[in-house]
Amino acid sequence: MGISRILIANRGEIALRIHRAAHEMGIETVAVHSTADADAMHVRLADHAVCIGPPSAAESYLNHAAIISAAEITGADAIHPGYGFLSENAKFADIVEAHDIAWIGPKPEHIRTMGDKVQAKKTAGALGLPLVPGSDGAVSDFDEMREVAAEIGYPVLAKAASGGGGRGMKVIPSEDQLEPLVKQAMNEAKAAFGDDTMYLEKYLGNPRHIEFQVFGDGRGNAIHLGERDCSLQRRHQKVFEEAPSPVISQEDRMRMGGIVADAMAAMEYRGAGTIEFLWENGEFYFIEMNTRLQVEHPVTEAITGMDLVREQIRIADGKDLSVKQEDIVFTGHAIECRINAEDPFTFAPSPGKIEYYHQAGGMHVRVDSGLYAGYTIPPYYDSMIAKLIVYGRTREGCLMRLRRALGEMVIQGVKTSIPLHQELLKQPDVLSGNYTIKWLEEWLVTRAEALAADPET
Ligand code: ADP
Repeated sequence: MGISRILIANRGEIALRIHRAAHEMGIETVAVHSTADADAMHVRLADHAVCIGPPSAAESYLNHAAIISAAEITGADAIHPGYGFLSENAKFADIVEAHDIAWIGPKPEHIRTMGDKVQAKKTAGALGLPLVPGSDGAVSDFDEMREVAAEIGYPVLAKAASGGGGRGMKVIPSEDQLEPLVKQAMNEAKAAFGDDTMYLEKYLGNPRHIEFQVFGDGRGNAIHLGERDCSLQRRHQKVFEEAPSPVISQEDRMRMGGIVADAMAAMEYRGAGTIEFLWENGEFYFIEMNTRLQVEHPVTEAITGMDLVREQIRIADGKDLSVKQEDIVFTGHAIECRINAEDPFTFAPSPGKIEYYHQAGGMHVRVDSGLYAGYTIPPYYDSMIAKLIVYGRTREGCLMRLRRALGEMVIQGVKTSIPLHQELLKQPDVLSGNYTIKWLEEWLVTRAEALAADPET
């Protein structure tokens, strides 16, 4: 039969991204939206649209019953969850499959396993991935924590098993601070995730964040599409991503990529996934796996020429992987800038009406965004309003094109992070690729101090 109508359980740029892949495949789309998103571009472009609730995400984009009803009413035969919202919700994936609707995502059991970081680490270790040294699973007893921490050496990182988005994590500099800081992290985790299970990890001083894109067919075949370097982060949130990483050799790419693809094949993993590592002194350390499409997937698309959403849809339709590992060729360099509606200096959100919009264009420039002049960015959701993805044959060429493209983007009516990206592109460390996950935060502190001393700078 095959998939013929996909319900997109998401909003904003990713809903449009999925819509575009579906339409290119001759598949119809169903947009679901909250009352706050009635005028959104993903709703305008979709073949069918269903309002599923009020602005609050809990009552709309996270509302299982409303989304399933919308799929039943419109006769959708598949659901794509995008990223965020319900994308890593195993229970929802179960419900979708129980309704004989294709879930464009991994098997629910794998979402469940990888969503629990303690389980994920165990599974990754058993599959032969290198781990960050740490506790053997969850620890709840403070004496045991002190023992483990002394063994791995301070500083250690206390992490919540259910953590996400950088929350429920605390760096513990020394033994006397272990108990109070772990208690803080537990309270934070309990409040945010309803689960205060913790584990301990060696805190790596100055690593890079390197992640591998994988695809599995669910029947024991898997491939990798190389790595992305997402080390430029603020509060553990990625700001700027590139592929390939400036520090990973082709030999390391294929060696580590081979290890992750073998692990996914052994699991009989289905669909798209990302295996995240920290990388320090030439060594990889697994931190977590994301069982979904990532925000930064377009940089991989740019250097492989593959449409990752198309591949996801094909796999959900029971087809084989469209390529073999040996057919995948990595060419050139790609960088993505996340453009948020926020103050580029204070990071305060800046929702509101777009008075004027002009999108960058030209060779090898891609903008994924639902913006248009007259659109009002609602205050209820994530502040990311656009992604600018630029490709070049070399990293230098890519950086030059990115600078040019950022200069062409005009978004009036709200504040955006474009000036932040323009400043980043003047920094020698960014230009040379010499940065770690600490770099951006440190630079922001220096910049804030310089601004305070001389507001003219
Ligand atoms: P989340 O699911 O909350 O995003 P991750 O495990 O992916 O949590 O970690 C998020 C970020 O936290 C990483 O990209 C890295 O910047 C930092 N981090 C995680 N584990 C460690 C560690 N062991 N040492 C140093 N930094 C870490």
